[in-house]
Amino acid sequence: MSVRCNICSIEIDETEVETHIVTQKHLENKSKISINSNGVGKSVASMWLKSFT
Ligand SMILES: [Zn+2]
Repeated sequence: MSVRCNICSIEIDETEVETHIVTQKHLENKSKISINSNGVGKSVASMWLKSFT
């Protein structure tokens, strides 16, 4: 069964979730979202996030 990572906007296998969430790319995306939710980095990241939701 595949699941969607709404942080990276990709499909990953259910069994890969635990390894995916510690990947550099995922953490990078996650930190961008954290910045965005704090209202600090309202720039490309927020536009990028909107396109995913
Ligand atoms: Zn991810």
